[in-house]
Amino acid sequence: ACRYKIASIPGDGIGIEVVEQTIKVLRAIEAVFNSFTLDIDTLDWSSKRYLEKGEYIPADGWQRLKASDAILFGAVGSPEVPDDVSLWNLILPLRKKLNQYINLRPIRILPGLSSPLKNCANGDLDWVIVRENSEGEYAGQGGTTHDDTPNTIANEVAVFTRVGIERTMRFAFEVARERPRRKLTMVTKSNAQRYGMVLWDKIFYEVAKEYPDVETDKMLVDAMAVRMVLKPNTLDTIVATNLHGDILSDLAAALAGSIGVASSSSLDPTRQNPSLFEPIHGSAPDIAGLGIANPVGTFWSAAEMLRWLGECAAADLLLRAIETVTANGAKTKDLGGMYNLAQVTEAVIVEVKRSFDAGKKIKS
Ligand code: NAD
Ligand code: MN
Repeated sequence: ACRYKIASIPGDGIGIEVVEQTIKVLRAIEAVFNSFTLDIDTLDWSSKRYLEKGEYIPADGWQRLKASDAILFGAVGSPEVPDDVSLWNLILPLRKKLNQYINLRPIRILPGLSSPLKNCANGDLDWVIVRENSEGEYAGQGGTTHDDTPNTIANEVAVFTRVGIERTMRFAFEVARERPRRKLTMVTKSNAQRYGMVLWDKIFYEVAKEYPDVETDKMLVDAMAVRMVLKPNTLDTIVATNLHGDILSDLAAALAGSIGVASSSSLDPTRQNPSLFEPIHGSAPDIAGLGIANPVGTFWSAAEMLRWLGECAAADLLLRAIETVTANGAKTKDLGGMYNLAQVTEAVIVEVKRSFDAGKKIKS
């Protein structure tokens, strides 16, 4: 039987709550399949730890992560720590040092959920956003001069490399090719940003030549935001820079019902490092501790993690269980429902067991 080492980093706020519930769901999946083992190592890397010890990631942290097969992450961010400090000391170093240069964000309207858009049926919004995850506007380059004077200048430098763009484009074309519509829309802002974004456009069309079976399409990011709202069914796979992909995928999740349902996979496609799976939402201090956070985005991330590990039957079963549960109306408040976090979890666990047993009956 396969053994997978999972590093679990719940982080802060509702990250802690949703990861705790997701581990219960994973344990249920592990029990019904009984064909693989999950060794889950829970790491207390959080803003609480930072406030106590001055660091998020301990000295032996990287070693522990490198020894794992995948990372399940909650969220980081606390009202007591500036957001740029928490992001740049935990989640961004993880993505960078582990060479997770792709961020994959599938989004669709799950059964039983509805879009805030008028006239948007469930099948009208079914997208995969491929976000570049290592450079661009989040390269971390820049600085300030003339600090604390009226003439302060802050430079936020976006860095784009041919290597970084090409590997992202190839990944996006591969994703698009596997989807029924075989359509890839590339997003830039190459009218205003003349260097990096023009290079993105150029490399997109170069790589497109290797994928004649994929239909291509190019958008400026502002017009793209409008198109996502007005004509969602004209889009399928989307490739965008780090910042644009971040913003558009939050919008996409909201259009699909709630930011609480969407998953995000930070992948090292070379598989030399563990990949990281997390919901797209943050630590939501406004609802932390209330037990009402929507766990679906983290469940969906756990399904993507199982798929990445090669446990596709388990991943499919979990995704179908989530869909059955939302279809049956077991929804948290953000989706207009009455269930709390623990009740949604329980409903998913019951459905995991029920559908596994039902599948066994059909086979025998
Ligand atoms: P957020 O995603 O935490 O919250 C935005 C809004 O959505 C809030 O009203 C929140 O209550 C709601 N929401 C989010 N997730 C939900 C869920 N699962 N169920 C129900 N409602 C949910 O974004 P924010 O408020 O901009 O940021 C809060 C903190 O999280 C900040 O410190 C920020 O830096 C951090 N953050 C971290 C990550 C990450 O760890 N990857 C991502 C985004 C934001
Ligand atoms: Mn975001």
